[in-house]
Formats: sequence, structure tokens, C-alpha cells
Amino acid sequence: MTRQFELFARPAVCFYHLNSGKPPRVVEYFSKTQNVPIVSDPVDLEGMKTVFFSIHSTRDAFKVAKLAKHKRQGSVWIAGGNAATNPTAIKWIMDYVFIGDAFVAFEKILNGTFDLRGMLNCSENNIVCFNDEDNFKKAYSLGFYELSKGCKRKCFFCVNAWRREYKENNFESVKKYLDSFDGRVVNLRSNSSDDVSFYPELIQIMKTKGIIDLNISTSIQTLTDEHIQSKSAGVKMPLGVEGFSERLRKILNKPIKNDALLDAVDRCLFYGKKIRTVYQFNLPGETENDFDALLQDIEYMRQRHKKGSYSIAFIPHNANAFTPMQWEKPYYNLNTLDRILELGERMKGSGKTGLSVHPIIPLSPLGWFKMQISEFVPITPQVAKALPDSAPKKETVEYYIDRVSAAVDVGYVFEEKDENFDFPWDNVKVATDKKELYRHYQKMKKRIERSNT
Ligand code: SF4
Repeated sequence: MTRQFELFARPAVCFYHLNSGKPPRVVEYFSKTQNVPIVSDPVDLEGMKTVFFSIHSTRDAFKVAKLAKHKRQGSVWIAGGNAATNPTAIKWIMDYVFIGDAFVAFEKILNGTFDLRGMLNCSENNIVCFNDEDNFKKAYSLGFYELSKGCKRKCFFCVNAWRREYKENNFESVKKYLDSFDGRVVNLRSNSSDDVSFYPELIQIMKTKGIIDLNISTSIQTLTDEHIQSKSAGVKMPLGVEGFSERLRKILNKPIKNDALLDAVDRCLFYGKKIRTVYQFNLPGETENDFDALLQDIEYMRQRHKKGSYSIAFIPHNANAFTPMQWEKPYYNLNTLDRILELGERMKGSGKTGLSVHPIIPLSPLGWFKMQISEFVPITPQVAKALPDSAPKKETVEYYIDRVSAAVDVGYVFEEKDENFDFPWDNVKVATDKKELYRHYQKMKKRIERSNT
């Protein structure tokens, strides 16, 4: 029997891999365990009865739009994945969108069960509840084991905080896995492993066995020396700082004091770790002074450390579905982009004179615009065609609104919404209801007002 015949033994079912590079690990896991091939040539779609898509970024909707012409009559397209929790951009072409975790559900779907919590039938647009499964108790790739999901903290902008309850895996199951593990590196998945109640015990187990955990998500506030020391020196430790200043972080419900931030960065560098702080820009309430605060922090670190590697990622903020930010007016500040680019120029070669600071060029206004409208409108081939694949860094939001206007009206996306605004994803129910999210949005607005007086 040829491998090809084995793979296609199941009635023509496949995963379609939308991106270049390796497919996501979870897709590879299901491909192996359920004998479902992964294809990435659009021509292959035409021979398939059922096609699964894993949507990891809202911008993937633009790739789906370009594939639409290959959907054969009678075939069933089903999407899942983190970015499919809001199905707005893709449900025009999908038959079903599965919303939430599918480690357990996937096998049932493969066997033809569609009456499941989390299953959206796109032609009916039924009310659907996020499927929040228990933590998975198997490694889904060598060394990849789930520690927790969701987050105990409730930063207003964060997609991880509001759609599901925080859940930790069972200590015994993780311990058993580590006890039987005979490799050197693991990736214990969590939004913030230093928040996991039993992580200190895991550090001890890993220390005894000489295992390094490459998962380096950390929440700063609880970062211990032991945690820092347990990390590999070769891997950049990301610290999710988000707001440029203490004032801004407080507004966003990510109240990291500046002293705590500088202390965390300082200790990581002191222990010889490479570090990457992650910031968002274009946040509600942000001013020029906030960026100045970041520049001061960089200068402070440059004075304290004469060697080491410090990179800074900048993410243009999106108003995401299922967060208190969904009502806000999204914007892209080209002046801040200029300041980031200027910082990058200024820090070129900084490693020759001390701490090497490496600002990472952020997503362009075009990429950001695509992500933002993918939350609100169907990304049809007409919409995808109206926007270029790449563009100069300096176009305004108004320019892109105009470019897509013949295909879809998106002007309202870039306005503030009122309390009763009907979002296209309102039929999807997540752990936090809309009223509660709005209450937090109002709290944020009051904080902005207060900080301006
Ligand atoms: S930004 Fe980080 S700390 Fe805040 S809620 Fe999200 S995962 Fe948690």
C-alpha cells in the first residue's frame, strides 16, 4: 500500500495549511493521530469532500478569500483555531466554524457529529457557546504540554482574558509527563507560566532532571530569580509590558509599576538572559509622553548594562472582539510609527558601545488595517482584491477605507461604538457577557479621563 493510498483511505478529508513553513503543531498532531493529510496546494482542494482550516490570525481570512474559487460544489469547509473565535471574516465561505477548544471535539467532528457545543452552522448563524474543554493531558508534539489556558489577569485589550475561564492542568499529569520525558527541552504551554500555581514544583523537577522549559511567557509581576535562572540563555525571554508607561498600563488594567518592570528587565540581563519586551502602541489614552517614558527606560538600561541583548517588539493595537476594547475607536498613529523607526535607526550598532537594543519594526498600517477590518466584516474576494499584499509604511486609515469602499463599508469600524451596538459576533457567547465587557470599557474610559485631569 502506498503512503498516498493510506493517507486518503478516509473519504477525501484534509487540513488545508494556509501559511508557508511548518503547519501548526496541533494540526500536525491531529493529522498523525486521525490520519488526515495536510495539503497546501489549492488544486488539492478540488478533490476533497471535507476541508479543515486552522485560523491563527484574523489576517488568514485574506488567504481564505483567495482560495474561495477552489471550493468545489458539495464540499464542506470547516474552520477552527484561535482566530476563528470571531467567525465574522470567514463565515461567508465556511459551512461550519468550530469555536473554542477541539482536542476532544475534533474526533467527534471527523466521525460526522456536528451537534456540538462550539459548532456554528454558518448558513443558520445559530447562537453558539465557546467550547472550553479541560486541559489536554497528552503531549501534542514532542515536549509540548499544556500547563494552563486563559489568564487570571484581566488586561482590557487581551483576547486570552475574557473568552474563557482560567484553567490549570492537573499537577500530577504534568509531573508524570516530565518524569517519563527523556529529552532535554520541553515547552510547557501557558500564557504566563510564572502564574501557574505549581510551576515552582515543576522548576525543581526540571532542575533535577536537567530539563529546560523553552516556554517563556511571563507576567513580570511574579517573575522570580529562580524562574529567570531556569530559562535557557539562548532564548529571548519575552515580557509582555504592553503600555509604554506606568500611567497607561494602569488604564489598561495591566498595572505593572515602572520599578517592577525595570527590576525584572534588570534581573534578566543580570542573569545573562536575552530579553524581549513586547509593547502595544495606539492604545486608548496614549500620548507622546508615554513613548518618552519608554525612551527613558531604555536609556536607564543602557546605563546599567554594558553588555547583553534587549529587543523590543511593537504591536499596533487592534480593537478585538470579546474584549472591553470592542467599542473603542481604533487608530494607527503614524507619528508613533516614525518614532519607533527613528529609535531603530538610533540603536543600530548599539551593541558596540554597550547593551544591544534592537527595536523590531511593527506591522504596517496596511497589515493592521487588514487585521482590524477582519474583526468586523466578511473578507470576500472583492475585499481582498481591493487591498494590496504590501504597501509603503505611510498610508493613512482613510486611504485604506477609501480603497475598500466599493467592496464594503468599513468607515464605522474606525469610530467609537455605542453601548447597544450590534456586533457581528454577538451570536457567539464567551465566558464574559457583553454587559460585563461594557462595564470594563467604561471603567477604562473613566481612568483615561481621570489621568487627564
Ligand atoms: S496580556 Fe498577558 S497578563 Fe494580561 S490578560 Fe492577557 S495573557 Fe494575561
